[in-house]
Amino acid sequence: DDEEFVGGRRGMGGASGRVPLGIKRKRLRVLVTGGAGFVGSHLVDRLMERGDSVIVVDNFFTGRKDNVVHHLGNPRFELIRHDVVEPILLEVDQIYHLACPASPVHYKFNPVKTIKTNVVGTLNMLGLAKRVGARFLLTSTSEVYGDPLQHPQVETYWGNVNPIGVRSCYDEGKRTAETLTMDYHRGAGIEVRIARIFNTYGPRMCIDDGRVVSNFVAQALRREPLTVYGDGKQTRSFQFVSDLVEGLMRLMEGDHVGPFNLGNPGEFTMLELAQVVQEVIDPNAEIEFRPNTEDDPHKRKPDISKAQQLLGWQPVVSLRDGLPLMVTDFKQRIFGNQREDSA
Ligand code: NAD
Ligand code: UDP
Ligand code: UDP
Repeated sequence: DDEEFVGGRRGMGGASGRVPLGIKRKRLRVLVTGGAGFVGSHLVDRLMERGDSVIVVDNFFTGRKDNVVHHLGNPRFELIRHDVVEPILLEVDQIYHLACPASPVHYKFNPVKTIKTNVVGTLNMLGLAKRVGARFLLTSTSEVYGDPLQHPQVETYWGNVNPIGVRSCYDEGKRTAETLTMDYHRGAGIEVRIARIFNTYGPRMCIDDGRVVSNFVAQALRREPLTVYGDGKQTRSFQFVSDLVEGLMRLMEGDHVGPFNLGNPGEFTMLELAQVVQEVIDPNAEIEFRPNTEDDPHKRKPDISKAQQLLGWQPVVSLRDGLPLMVTDFKQRIFGNQREDSA
């Protein structure tokens, strides 16, 4: 079964591993840690569509079975409840390592657990990659740049991170995960890839995860005020999830280790984001200012020249096109079907 070859589909050539019509390739066994989460589940959809065998390892801290329920019963799909902090033995060809809470509210909830997940969890997945000779992709983050003194951020920038702050469990955890990844690459000859992901949004985000896009969309739909933290002049760049998944797959299939910034260079202040949400969902939505959280980065915007050049990748979905796709999903999950068009 694992030796089966899968044919490509029409119009699906390209670096993201989709094979042009008529060409056969070996069916890959792909492990996605954190595959029941927001980004992971969209990645799983693409890998399943491509014909691979997919194993999801997830402890369901922030992920949900609902996100992958449509694959249960497919013989090419396997869902394992497991915490990556514990060792695990599996036989795979590729590892997409996503397991880690991404929202500040979630990763601050148990900071020591967040560090363990990033350090011990990543070590275990690298040990697994070493044992079976799998290619390993780390989903790192723009947070490795901290509160950046360089703008936009280029991969060569080393960052400005507070080592003892409330965000450090995540920022420093991911920085250590990058270090481990490079040390296994240099020391044990593992094939590795590193993505530095910038703020990403889309369907299946946790509704109350505290991230700004999910907060604003849920608030506007519930006719609550949009909570802008601080003066709302801090900036972020928002990438639609399908763009990210395409970038991750191109990175995995390509020849370059990275790190690569994967993000949408469109930069918005939180006030501008609130305005876009008003335009898309409810022009009468009110804005309410709240005190900002500690160590909040002032600016963030990716320089994606490296990914454009070496991966032939750039985002194609704008915020105004992507938001409505998320709104449809949030409406269904917040109101169910009966009130679907009431907001
Ligand atoms: P998410 O919280 O939706 O998904 C994370 C998944 O990992 C969840 O399913 C969760 O249950 C699982 N998980 C957490 N700890 C685990 C553990 N110890 N063992 C096993 N599973 C565990 O977050 P996401 O937005 O899908 O993020 C996925 C990855 O991308 C994360 O590594 C995150 O750091 C990175 N990232 C995301 C963003 C973004 O904006 N979404 C930005 C930068 C980086
Ligand atoms: N590991 C794992 N699955 C494997 C191989 C290794 O979970 O298939 C874990 C292993 O338990 C160890 C970590 O990965 O904690 C690092 O493994 P490695 O072989 O690099 O180091 P060592 O076991 O020698 O410390
Ligand atoms: N933010 C906000 N209102 C909210 C949630 C967040 O204004 O309801 C701000 C937050 O202060 C930060 C930005 O939005 O400046 C992005 O926050 P998020 O938690 O989404 O991601 P981060 O990039 O900080 O990890």
